Amino acid sequence: MPQYDFDLFTIGAGSGGVAASRRAGSYGARVAICEDSRIGGTCVHRGCVPKKLLVYGAHFHADFEDAAGYGWSVPEPTFDWTKLQAAKNKELDRLDGVYRRLLRDSGVQLIEGRGRVVDAHTVEVGGKRYTAERLLVATGSHPFLPEIPGIEHAITSDGALSLPELPRRLAIVGGGYIGVEFAGIFNALGAKVMMLLRGETVLRGFDNDIRGMLTQELRKKGIDLRPETFIRDIEKRPDGTLSLLTRMGDTLEVDAVLYATGRVPNTKGLGLEEVGVRLNERGAVQVDEWSRTSVENIYAVGDVTDRINLTPVAIAEGRALAETLFHDNPTKFDHTGVASAVFCQPPVGTVGCTENQARERYGQVDVYVSNFRPMKHTLSGRDERTMMKVIVERASGRVLGFHMVGADAPEIIQGMAVALKCGVTKKQLDATVGIHPTAAEEFVTMRDKRPDPEEAAAQERGRDAVPHAH
Ligand code: NDP
Repeated sequence: MPQYDFDLFTIGAGSGGVAASRRAGSYGARVAICEDSRIGGTCVHRGCVPKKLLVYGAHFHADFEDAAGYGWSVPEPTFDWTKLQAAKNKELDRLDGVYRRLLRDSGVQLIEGRGRVVDAHTVEVGGKRYTAERLLVATGSHPFLPEIPGIEHAITSDGALSLPELPRRLAIVGGGYIGVEFAGIFNALGAKVMMLLRGETVLRGFDNDIRGMLTQELRKKGIDLRPETFIRDIEKRPDGTLSLLTRMGDTLEVDAVLYATGRVPNTKGLGLEEVGVRLNERGAVQVDEWSRTSVENIYAVGDVTDRINLTPVAIAEGRALAETLFHDNPTKFDHTGVASAVFCQPPVGTVGCTENQARERYGQVDVYVSNFRPMKHTLSGRDERTMMKVIVERASGRVLGFHMVGADAPEIIQGMAVALKCGVTKKQLDATVGIHPTAAEEFVTMRDKRPDPEEAAAQERGRDAVPHAH
């Protein structure tokens, strides 16, 4: 008789939990997974998937406009939010079923309900206790809301994805991934969108040229970006209008306010600290490079560990863990060189160091930038530009970062991420033949370095010095 009911018990059937459980199951481990919501987690039901479907839906607005330049006469298009919602929800139902089947096919037992750790080998779900040799915490994260009066009137990305009606006027607080993505969706669908930023601009942590360019493009699309704007209080009027009082004393009237101010790991009420699992000051489970917590047989992957909070990273962490534990193949996931994309309009793709990081870490770098009007818009007439940037270590010629803002950036950056992971050099980019005519070919045809700001300043100082020399 085995000592425990299962070899692995996973709490949370999102991207990381499902990936680890299925991989473990495929190696013959006896695995159970518990979930108190739909199967697939944030990515499938409250994040990447529904968001991307809304991004596709929203983009038709620009496509209809652009068609005219190519000879099409498009009658005034109309949009039905409820139809898009219904179609999206049907797809999410389908995916819930797909995930259930995938678990079943891998021999993973699904236990529906909220799990709580009772001791290092026991999880309680719906009053029933299950034992396992190893536990995996993969409970994800939830949106953070600051404590201000009236915050209960605000929505988060969860609510924004399934609003019963399209708001006429929308305020978005926060200019990170979610803020700019939802600004793009709702602006294209016809809402008047304002973004309230606590800093100067959007996408902190991204390359400054990308941030600057995206800011310009968002403004061109009519999004009202308000830097250094803080909400003090939200009041709901009897007619449903929300009145936002800013710290400067202004009042902004909107139909909905969306807070996209970061996410918090889901660790409350799980019983983790009680059994000795250490959390950090943000409430995230602390793990080592093997995703092991401070309790020897308890592991954690994905957003709950607050490392790189992206679906493919959670999946990779989960699979690496299953390899290590159940396939005699010790595998650490390498968190460097992870590409990411922001599905704003135009979208952003990025991998590797920003220019500032590269200068700090590697000293002298060469920077290549290409800023152009995409061919499609020569006929569509749309005033939208694309920017691509390559950062190269001067001494070795190795590429340190690829960045892009413009149509298809997420698709293009994926290939560049492979190259970066393989240690591509600028010489190898130069030796690669471009595919013409594409935007992607710019990454292999850039020739002119941008003048180095420090060298340019030194030259300037040299020029200044000349008159004094006489
Ligand atoms: P981000 O951390 O990306 O951005 C948070 C934004 O909110 C920042 O602009 C931040 O300002 C601002 N902010 C934070 N706290 C406050 C506050 N108290 N008041 C006002 N503004 C505040 O978080 P998101 O919520 O946008 O997304 C959460 C995470 O989900 C992302 O970091 C990413 O890991 C993941 N995600 C990934 C996506 C993708 O891969 N395409 C899509 C969506 C989410 P400041 O810049 O000053 O810090």
